[in-house]
Amino acid sequence: MRIALRSLILLAASAAALCAAHALAEPRFSFANTPGKLPKDVVPSHYALRIVPGTDRFEAQAAIDIDVKRPVHAIVLNASELSFKSVRLRAAEGNEQILAPTFDPKQETVRLAPPRAPIAPGSYRLDIEYSGQIGRHPQGLYRIEYRQREPQGVVEKTMLATHMEPVSARKLFPCWDEPVFRASFELAAVVDQPLTVVSNMPQSRVEPRPDGKKEVRFARSVPMSTYLVALFVGEMDVLADEVDGIRLRIYTAKGKRERARYAMESTKQIVHYYNGYFGERYPLEKLDQIALPGGSGGAMENWGAIAYNEGRLLYSPRADSLRQQQQIYGIVAHEIAHQWFGNLVTMAWWDNLWLNEGFATWMESKATERFNSTWDTRLRYSLVKDWALGEDARRTTHPIQTRVDNDFRAMEVFDSISYAKGAAVLRMMESYLGEDVFRTGVQAYVRAHRLSNATTADLWHHLSQASGQDIPRLVSAWTEQPGYPLVRVSQRCERGEAVVTLTQERFKLNDPDAPALAWNVPVILADAAGTRRALLVERDARVARFPGCGAIVANAGDGGYYRVEYDDAGFRQLNADLKNLAPLDRLRLLSDTFALVQAGRADVTRYLALVGNLGEEADRTIWDQVVGSLRFFGDLFDKVEESGAFDRFVAQLLQKPFSRVGWDRRPGESSDTQLLRRSLIDALGRAGDKAVVEEAQARFAARADKPLDASIRSAVLNVVGRYADEPTYRTLLRRMRNATDENAKWETLSALRRMQDPGLLRQLMELMLTDELPPSDAVFNLTQLGEDSGQVELGWRFVLARLPDVLAKASERGRLYVLPNTARGFSDAARADELLAATRAHLDATALYQAEKAADWIRLKAAVKQREAARAAAWARAHSRQG
Ligand SMILES: [Zn+2]
Repeated sequence: MRIALRSLILLAASAAALCAAHALAEPRFSFANTPGKLPKDVVPSHYALRIVPGTDRFEAQAAIDIDVKRPVHAIVLNASELSFKSVRLRAAEGNEQILAPTFDPKQETVRLAPPRAPIAPGSYRLDIEYSGQIGRHPQGLYRIEYRQREPQGVVEKTMLATHMEPVSARKLFPCWDEPVFRASFELAAVVDQPLTVVSNMPQSRVEPRPDGKKEVRFARSVPMSTYLVALFVGEMDVLADEVDGIRLRIYTAKGKRERARYAMESTKQIVHYYNGYFGERYPLEKLDQIALPGGSGGAMENWGAIAYNEGRLLYSPRADSLRQQQQIYGIVAHEIAHQWFGNLVTMAWWDNLWLNEGFATWMESKATERFNSTWDTRLRYSLVKDWALGEDARRTTHPIQTRVDNDFRAMEVFDSISYAKGAAVLRMMESYLGEDVFRTGVQAYVRAHRLSNATTADLWHHLSQASGQDIPRLVSAWTEQPGYPLVRVSQRCERGEAVVTLTQERFKLNDPDAPALAWNVPVILADAAGTRRALLVERDARVARFPGCGAIVANAGDGGYYRVEYDDAGFRQLNADLKNLAPLDRLRLLSDTFALVQAGRADVTRYLALVGNLGEEADRTIWDQVVGSLRFFGDLFDKVEESGAFDRFVAQLLQKPFSRVGWDRRPGESSDTQLLRRSLIDALGRAGDKAVVEEAQARFAARADKPLDASIRSAVLNVVGRYADEPTYRTLLRRMRNATDENAKWETLSALRRMQDPGLLRQLMELMLTDELPPSDAVFNLTQLGEDSGQVELGWRFVLARLPDVLAKASERGRLYVLPNTARGFSDAARADELLAATRAHLDATALYQAEKAADWIRLKAAVKQREAARAAAWARAHSRQG
């Protein structure tokens, strides 16, 4: 699964418990030892499902082949919001009994008990007739309402889709809804004649029915986990192709097929590459991808039928930007990687989710880098790693391998730790062991566990075999302990030689009592002459010597998952030599210095001095790091004069690179320049740069004659939204309402969320409580607009006052994020307490973890504010011209 960037902020989730590390000493995979909630004495082997969707509900039959391993008084499986009409259990020899269901809505289970004696061991078929709900949230079977442009105008349409991961398959069919219970599936659906139906497997039979409908049956699947089952029904166009003998199709809403071409070309490249890399061909005869005109904001790797929000898959060279193109390549590479990591080999339980998500994220970066050499992929993924480094140093983090005891926790581990830290640890191991050895181990792991499940211990086993090294000893601290090291580098000059001493300690953000931990840290040191030294830093200090006494970079090439702190002399040398560092090393130095300021180990002027020294910097990822960090500091000022001075400083700083890239594309400019232009317009608009604001407004006003350039359109809209008056608000609202695709809709919503005018924001918030938007989308925008507009207080007061209405719109699991997301923009410790109190008053204990996490973030900002705000304001005044 790939969470939408818009919900990355949302789901910045997690942690098994707020407790510290505990070594898991996890065994290799076995069915019996796999954690989970369902008893393992009854095991399903095959599901035949027949679904008849109506408007708000569906009717269905499930025939499930099961093995009863020992006498049981009842069969316990998952079911959520399903109504059973009849349950029959038929033994292999033919006798049949009626079972009585008892539902446990809290556990989302149903207990099926025979009238008398226990059920004897043996093979049975369980026949269940039932019905269920078609929801409006992407959980189970749900409805997407969307707009389609037709000759007579814009018309309203409906599509049905499923999203099961992690625990929503039980809303479509009664099942053993845990990844270890693999079974084969045969789906059938009864739908109106003209509709297209897509599922995991190819269609095997289509039968017209007398009532004008048709019954579509799909072939029997390979054994797979329930969370990968998929079904889509709607009016669709299709783009077809083929690679390595595998049939490829991309389904879109009507009229959008041509925009699937870029994704199709990428798919062909990626599938062929993976077939070779894994040494195991993609195992199904077809791979479909569906561009959904709504629903979740990201993508889901359903086996053979991957679902995406269409904004993540469709691309038109004329109307869309390079940024979208890059995002599409990455997400397609991610979801297709899951067809091996996740679908073919599945983590045994959610505590090893990183085996799915870390791998897919790592593979996504590897494939993107391989086939798009001009894209600067390594730098982008370095910022993705920062997402994890930021959360993993806090009190609320958790180890990669983490306990998952309930369904809420299963949802919460889809976070920076499973994705970005998981990917970073894999990359670190790959560069330590070498690409070939690593790949040999990965291939052996896939071969040994294909069509089965695995744990981290299995991966270690195969990597140990391939490398001849004791992999668990080397790396288990990275997956079994929370947090990561800070490598401290001190340097002295001795008889013309640089003597570099390396030590490690745990890096902490506002968490003084975190237990001390140590890791085996592979460190690469490099000097300006290109001399490199690789060292493994363990508990004791390590020393390296370099000829000459020049600047030394640690973590050269950014292969490691840790931060670096240089002593004053070393930092001064690097700062002086900044322009000559490789871009990745420059980015790392900025990022680590910013983190040291957050941690209270350096003052803000150290970071700002570095930024002031960037000179002719042209790399957009480096500027994105700077813009993000300056925004963090910019949000900490309580006094208007201070924030005004800081904004002026930011605007003057960014004017320099912007004057080089200008407003309009030039022939032959690099792809990076386009992306830098967009970032700078957005940031300058945010800082209130008068010229940029006026030009954005003028371009927006003239858009009928001269359409906005796709590469900067989202930034121009954001600037226009930020300073919108009432007529502009109406115009943007109309644009959002007329949008017939997800990108245009979300681009405009992003602009609306930035409005600073409190009256207009209030109107927008009221609108979010109507049926204007799908409920999950409305809740996202409502809880995000305080932070985006800078009007956190206004958003918070509104959400608190209307909490029952907001919670009613949110999905059961989305409820946990309503208050934390609304409050995240605060930077006063008292607000953290207020958030926790409100959570305790209005929600149950399952909501506390997300609230704790947001509260911890607020407290971190409060601490930085207290230490650094005055100093940052003074620096800004001293380093900017008065405006
Ligand atoms: Zn994923």
